[in-house]
Amino acid sequence: MRIDLHTHSNVSDGTDTPAELVVAARDAGLDVVALTDHDTFDGLDRAVAAGHEHGVEVVRGLELSCMRQGQSVHLLAFGADPEAAALAEEMVRVREGRTGRLRPVLDLLAGLGVPVTEEEVMAQVGSSPSVGRPHIADALVAAGWVADRTEAFDRFLADGGPAHVGRYAIEVAHGIDLVHAAGGVAVIAHPWGRGRAGLLPEAFLVELVEQHGLDGIEVDHQDHDAETRAELRALADRLGVLGTGSSDYHGTGKTDHDLGVNTTRPEVYDELRKRIRVAR
Ligand code: AMP
Ligand code: ZN
Ligand code: FE
Ligand code: FE
Repeated sequence: MRIDLHTHSNVSDGTDTPAELVVAARDAGLDVVALTDHDTFDGLDRAVAAGHEHGVEVVRGLELSCMRQGQSVHLLAFGADPEAAALAEEMVRVREGRTGRLRPVLDLLAGLGVPVTEEEVMAQVGSSPSVGRPHIADALVAAGWVADRTEAFDRFLADGGPAHVGRYAIEVAHGIDLVHAAGGVAVIAHPWGRGRAGLLPEAFLVELVEQHGLDGIEVDHQDHDAETRAELRALADRLGVLGTGSSDYHGTGKTDHDLGVNTTRPEVYDELRKRIRVAR
């Protein structure tokens, strides 16, 4: 059994349609794939239908924009009910924050001598309800200002970069509660990737487990080196929570994130599946 629990389609900032992603998962030899688009459930029905057609088990996922101390934390949710009102209302707020951030970012980019218009960005967003920095990066690429998404992030868009603008996100403890109220399972994505180790120290993760029932942490992720993975695996065991693995696939939008590059152990997936509840 090969299981990949974190991927993105073009319903957020990946480049494959949900159906294309499922076909790519089959071609990569995956048995199970979770679609976890940023702050939207819109691709899930299409992915599940494609899964039935192509013999891939599709898990209904989500990557929810959360924060701690004003800094970005990503929370994976599995099996959360899209109809659960409290979560849905917060997700609207998050998506509005994504859209509202666009204008100030474009003003900063213009000031830095790399102007792109809102129309150019929206052409990259397409029908995605979740406007992301990768779409702005794609507009910079299309305009010829940078070679690829990586250069756009490195020079302008990365957290703390010269064109970075914060946006609304959900306090992570509250995000976990909302996911649980929607019947879902909550797993912190890439907890110690990209300098987040200081933001999410062990003591805080313990608090999330003990007080909010956090279900797991992502261990095997491309943003974690071998030493970090070993530490997180040991931590997950100590805390008695799930330690997951995934590609965080974005289609052609991210290199070194091929489907199945990291996977989740079948025993871990079994336990995760058991924890998915009917929304309460
Ligand atoms: P946003 O959702 O607008 O906050 O943008 C965050 C997304 O940008 C994440 O999902 C990442 O996949 C992507 N991202 C972050 N850093 C980079 C980078 N250095 N290169 C390419 N993509 C990145
Ligand atoms: Zn993304
Ligand atoms: Fe993420
Ligand atoms: Fe992701």
